[in-house]
Amino acid sequence: LVSRKKKPENTLINLKGEIIGNGIPSFVFGPCAVESYDQVAIVAEAVKKKGLKLLRGGAYKPRTSPYDFQGLGLEGLQILKRVADEYDLAVISEIVNPADIETAVDYIDVIQIGARNMQNFELLKAAGQVDKPVLLKRGLAATIDEFIHAAEYIMSQGNGNIILCERGIRTYEKATRNTLDISAVPILKQETHLPVMVDVTHSTGRRDLLIPTAKAALAIGADGVMAEVHPDPAVALSDSAQQMDFEQFDQFWEEIQKLNWVT
Ligand code: PEP
Ligand code: MN
Repeated sequence: LVSRKKKPENTLINLKGEIIGNGIPSFVFGPCAVESYDQVAIVAEAVKKKGLKLLRGGAYKPRTSPYDFQGLGLEGLQILKRVADEYDLAVISEIVNPADIETAVDYIDVIQIGARNMQNFELLKAAGQVDKPVLLKRGLAATIDEFIHAAEYIMSQGNGNIILCERGIRTYEKATRNTLDISAVPILKQETHLPVMVDVTHSTGRRDLLIPTAKAALAIGADGVMAEVHPDPAVALSDSAQQMDFEQFDQFWEEIQKLNWVT
């Protein structure tokens, strides 16, 4: 169902008026994790000031260590909903448990399925049964074919509104947190009719690589870019090494705006 052979035209996803997949890149910014109302609201304000529409923030955090901050859960979703309403933004947040999908649709505009859950088939099926766009991230060690099959799981249940997100894969290279597989973007666009985004934060794990990798993503035809922004990354409860502060966010956005394919 996700194959371009089956449906030659691009799937477009409308998020409160922002169209993903229409050739004009979309941008998703926001903190790694929802930490408080004030923290999310101040980021929303910065996003809004740039004329952008999409905000991210994790309420359920799939952390490597069980002793690290696990997210605010439902309270985090409630904060996102409040901020989305106040700033008229569409919010994206990861759901990790199939049982939480039905509740989540009342609070968020896009259900994110994270890299660690790309092959959590019960979660994929649950996300396929609701009327809410899904942002599906590529698994840490998933081939492109496995990634496409994960999207197929969602679509086979009836939900065709899927955004694919390349977020780097595990290789022997240690200079970056993951290796951004940039060629996955045109391959996914050839093989499927779904929009493809690139998460530059989790793929690189390096603040100094966010601008060049975002440029590469847009140059190779990505439908959008995701990056993390935090009011004070030094005290962030997760991913403090790679989130941008507001000054870096301004710089990032200035560089991106110089590219003439962004309107
Ligand atoms: C995230 O986007 O918050 C995240 C945890 O990303 P990934 O699943 O790609 O590691
Ligand atoms: Mn993060």
